[in-house]
Amino acid sequence: MESWSDRDLKYIWHPCSQMKDYEELPPIVIDHGEGVYLYDTDGNRYVDVISSWWCNLLGHCNPIINAAVKKQIDELEHVIFANFSNKRAVELCEKLIKVLPKSLCKFNFSDNGSASIECAMKMSFQYHYQTGNPEKKRFMALTDAYHGETIGALSVGGCDLYSEIYKPMLMDIVRIEGPDCYRCPYGFCRDNCACECAVKAEEAFEKFGNEVCALIVEPLLQGSAGMKIYPSLYLKRLRKLCDEYNVHLIADEIATGYGRTGKMFAFDHAEVSPDIMCLSKGLTGGYMPMSLAITTQDIYDAFYADYNSGRAFMHSHTYSGNPLACSAANAVLDILADGSVIKNANQNALYFNNIIKEKFSGHKNVGEVRSIGLINAIELVKDKTSKEAFDSELRIGYQIYKKALKRGVILRPLGNVIYFNPPLIIGQADMDYVTDAALASLYDILGR
Ligand SMILES: *Cc1c(COP(=O)(O)O)cnc(C)c1O
Repeated sequence: MESWSDRDLKYIWHPCSQMKDYEELPPIVIDHGEGVYLYDTDGNRYVDVISSWWCNLLGHCNPIINAAVKKQIDELEHVIFANFSNKRAVELCEKLIKVLPKSLCKFNFSDNGSASIECAMKMSFQYHYQTGNPEKKRFMALTDAYHGETIGALSVGGCDLYSEIYKPMLMDIVRIEGPDCYRCPYGFCRDNCACECAVKAEEAFEKFGNEVCALIVEPLLQGSAGMKIYPSLYLKRLRKLCDEYNVHLIADEIATGYGRTGKMFAFDHAEVSPDIMCLSKGLTGGYMPMSLAITTQDIYDAFYADYNSGRAFMHSHTYSGNPLACSAANAVLDILADGSVIKNANQNALYFNNIIKEKFSGHKNVGEVRSIGLINAIELVKDKTSKEAFDSELRIGYQIYKKALKRGVILRPLGNVIYFNPPLIIGQADMDYVTDAALASLYDILGR
């Protein structure tokens, strides 16, 4: 009998990887999961410390979410969302509105993160077209941003690894040099700066603000760029600029939402509201593909008119509002409702960050250990003093990843940044385990 991975490789083109790499390390076929653990078809256990691409929030096969989805599947699996609705979608909005920044009150459903970004961009573009500012056609975004892989989302993204080849296909974006706290060009650090770097945003607004409909940001944490973390004051500054220039602020909370940064949403740290918020990943606890673009009454009203005015938002996805996905999303909010999960995660986050600093900071190649919520990132550098990066062709992160897999830990670094982004329910014993395994793997590749 052929192995599962051989059967896989006969047909499957895996995302975001060089298929040739699988010659040496075949895909790991997972049989079942429980809590923070995944078990492969040979019975090996892995601690899923990357939350299965940052989406698993409350553990695999969470009994409460499982029960909600099982119940729903016997009632209704799907129904068209134009002119029809379903009870689970209504309930989801009623639950979410209690925890969202207060100006956000209208919900547009899509079925993956990138699609919600496209939705937000079209919404903002059409808003300005319909409110007498048709010259506002462009978008602003930060360097090192990541907003997904579809053409619009890739356009606002600023990571060359994903977009370089496609540049001829992409929109012309106003790119703002964003915060870079580890290598701050102004010589400050995250905790003692006044966001001097926001001057770059000010310059961009001055020059292009009048032709821009929206600025999109990943609040506080640029995930795919290597878990780059910046202070909440920066968001406040952006909010002010957006208000001055009649530019929408789109919060891409796809990775940061749902307690990942220690609060329900990263924007909560800044105490300002975006005009549109995109959610996905943790939204269904990592169970089903679903996303939301949530917006204000003001934006909604710009589309509300007699049919023949042509003002409707003619944007749709077949699986918008899918009741199975909504049932999972409702169960997630029920579990989070009393606040204890996030509170507990924040207590554990202190422990996690302490042991990571203790174990890793002294190593000759650890440039920075940074953290927000349970997310911890370790940036590996060739030289600590100059902060010179390793040559990406050495694939240091990938080599450490392979070693850690043998120890039963899924790390999947971003370039030379090893990171942990576990489900919120991870316990301290597993934190000890994964950090020991990661450290031993780092020693294997870079020495002590
Ligand atoms: C994952 C992610 C996306 C894209 O979501 P998909 O569901 O993969 O399309 C967009 N923005 C951020 C910040 C993300 O982390």
